[in-house]
Formats: sequence, C-alpha cells, structure tokens
Amino acid sequence: MKTNLLLALLLFNSATIFPQTKDETVFKEIYTSALTNSKCYSWLDYLSNNIGSRLSGSAGAEKAVQYTKQQMETMGFDKVYLQEVMVPKWVRGEKETAYIHNNKTKIKVPICALGGSIATPKNGLSAEVVEVHSFDEMKALGTDKIKGKIVFYNRPMDNGAIEAFDAYSGAIDQRYMGAKEASKYGAIATIVRSMNLRLDDLPHTGAQSYGDIPKAQYIPTAAISTNGAESLSKTLKSNPNLKFYFKQSCQQLEDVLSYNVVGEIKGNAHPENIMVVGGHLDSWDLADGSHDDGAGVVQSMEVVNIFRNIKYKPKNTLRIVLFMNEENGTRGGKKYEELSLANKENHIFALESDSGGFTPRGFSLECNEANFTKISSWKSVFEPYLIHSFVKGHSGSDIEALTSPTIVKAGLKPDSQRYFDYHHAANDTFDAIDKRELELGAGTMAALIYMIDQNGIAK
Ligand SMILES: [Zn+2]
Repeated sequence: MKTNLLLALLLFNSATIFPQTKDETVFKEIYTSALTNSKCYSWLDYLSNNIGSRLSGSAGAEKAVQYTKQQMETMGFDKVYLQEVMVPKWVRGEKETAYIHNNKTKIKVPICALGGSIATPKNGLSAEVVEVHSFDEMKALGTDKIKGKIVFYNRPMDNGAIEAFDAYSGAIDQRYMGAKEASKYGAIATIVRSMNLRLDDLPHTGAQSYGDIPKAQYIPTAAISTNGAESLSKTLKSNPNLKFYFKQSCQQLEDVLSYNVVGEIKGNAHPENIMVVGGHLDSWDLADGSHDDGAGVVQSMEVVNIFRNIKYKPKNTLRIVLFMNEENGTRGGKKYEELSLANKENHIFALESDSGGFTPRGFSLECNEANFTKISSWKSVFEPYLIHSFVKGHSGSDIEALTSPTIVKAGLKPDSQRYFDYHHAANDTFDAIDKRELELGAGTMAALIYMIDQNGIAK
C-alpha cells in the first residue's frame, strides 16, 4: 500500500462518529441498528416478490394487508388492528396497444392507460393528433382545431430543476386533468408524455380525474413512453395528418372494502399524544411498487424494530399506519383523519415516507415557525449521518388530511434524482432498491421520531 493512501485511510477513519451527548449516543445506536440488524429489506422482498402489485381493491392489496398485519403482530406492539375503508377499484384489463400510422408505415409505441380512465371502443380508436404543451395553447387552438382529434400533451418535465419533485409538479397537470380539459374542446382522447426525466421505453401510469364533467363527456386517456412521445412529435412535424391508433380496455368497478393497517405502542409518559409514522400499502398495477411505496411501508415498520433493538420506549404514543389507496383516491388517509376526529385524538406529529427508498437527505416540514426553528436546531445531530436538508414543504399525501392546528408534519426527503425513472412504471421493482439506502431512510425516520418524542413540539 502506498504511504499517502494509507494516510488518507487513517484520516478517513478519524471521521468515525464518536458520540458525546445523550442524543448523539442514541443516534449512533439507531443508525447501527438500522444498518446491521434491520428487517426492512426482507419485508420489502416479500411484499414485492411474493405479493407483487397492490392496486386498491386487488388481491395483492388484500394480501399485503394480511401480511403486514401478521408481521406487526410479532413485533411487540400494544395493539395491531385494521381500519375499514371503502376504496375505488379500477382494473386495466388487457395490455394496451398503440401505433403511429404515418402514410404506409406503422410505428408501434408503448402506452398504458391512466388510472381511472375509461376504455377505448372495443376495437380501439384512430384519429389525427394535435400536439400541445399547455392548457393555454389548447385553449388558443379551440374547438375548431381540436374537435374529433386526439390531444397529445408533450411538455416534458423540466430537466433544469434540481429537485425532481419540482419537475414533476411542473408537468403533472397534463396527466391529472388533461382528459377533462381536452374533452371541453371536443377531443376524443388524450395521450400524455410520461412523467419521467429520462428517455426510455416505459410508459408511466398514475391518477387522472375527469373532475365534474358529465360522464358522457369522459374520453380515454393514456401515457406514452418518453421515447414514444419524441417519436410521435418528430413524425407529426413531417406529417401533421398522421393517424394515432390505440386500444385499452380498462374499467372502473364498484368500490370495495379494504383496510389501513395500524400498530400502536402506548406512550409511557404522555399516552394521549400521538405520533404517526407511515407510508402507503397500495401501489400501481404495472409493477410491485418497491419504491412507491413498499419502501415507505417497511421503513415505517422498521422504526419500531429499531426502537425495540435499542430498547427505547417512547414517551408519547407511537402509531405505525400503513395507509390504503394513496394512489387513486387517498381514501385511507381521509378515513384515518375521520376516525381520529371522531375519537377526539390528539396528534402531535406525523411522518410519511413516500418519495422512494433512496439515500435520505432530510425532511420536508409542514409546521408553524416555532417548530420549524426547533427542528432545524437539531441539524447538527443529524449531519454526521449526512442528513442536512430541513426545508418547508409538502409532507405526504396520506397525512395531508391530518389538520389539528398544532400538529407537526414531516416527509422523509430522499435524494430525488432517480425516483421518476421508476415512478408508476413497470421497473419499480425490488432490484431497483439498494439495501443500505433503504435502511438509512428507516434510521433517519427513527432518529426524528426520537427527537420529537424527547423534546415535544412547540405550541
Ligand atoms: Zn406513493
């Protein structure tokens, strides 16, 4: 070994964490447990590879409810129970097909129906295409140019954004409201560029809404892969009269009964104060949803495993909630809040992990100024674990409904750069998960809960 390399290694070693305060000591125990003695990766393996996709109302969702309940029953909770919730049931049907007909050539492109969409006619539909990049552009074209055609939304997610979630927010209106808006101008269908920063061949599904338009005006809507969108756009430039054909046979069925899975540890000093930690058990149907949100589910469960390993007993009541139906209705989150209000519960804190199982960077906080200052002051304890980003922002969709005036809500904020490579697509599978990154996320969640539990929240 070269002397300077040896020296570098020695210096590197000196950066090992030597805890001094009580919090630093507990943090070290938390992260050591997370990285050396966790169950989250094997739970996720089972959820992803033995159960698979878990769209609300599906057999997979039901199996996931039973599996996580069973696991939680072995973990030393004071009680584990199910909360009934009626959820929408949408089914994709046969795999979709789509072609660009350009004069005599036929180009096959990958598409998938958007969640909640209606089917095309049985044999599919074919029409000319109008490409737009915004609702304003569509409005300017008006009914004259749009009636009887397929509207193709092709505004990409902004590659200049640092946070991939910002790029997502900037493009999502096209997917969520595109069909409803285009229907007003007489479009017969819409195709939207997948919410994905990279160019590939995977279509990304996701929720869409017809809002309050009459049922007779519903039109089929699908996502096309980013490569497919590029190809369609390019072909349109050379032949504005090309025809686009697609076929999908999805259906919205009657609502069905499902469940949130809840595990609770009573606080030994302030049992009336509740801290909620969770993720969502449902996923889209194209893959097993390992990042979205199998990761958040197993990380939330791991928090309790960590506390057990390090023998930490929370002062406040700790509740792990695996929410159902985040993807196409957030009915689980709403039901949880409804029951909480009816039972006059007092939530002081809620933490959700629903941004993928990537390396944790920090938290996105929804709270008053006093609490933001308080939590930000804990930064130095987190920094040795490379957790540095404490920002104000959206916490999580499932905890959005929790509205008590003093509650502090937080979202785990992992590195977002690769999330949309997988989000709602067929490659959101277990092999896309890194074990250590997943475990670090669980440790980071446990560390924040420990700090809230010890220090309380500012009123
Ligand atoms: Zn999610």
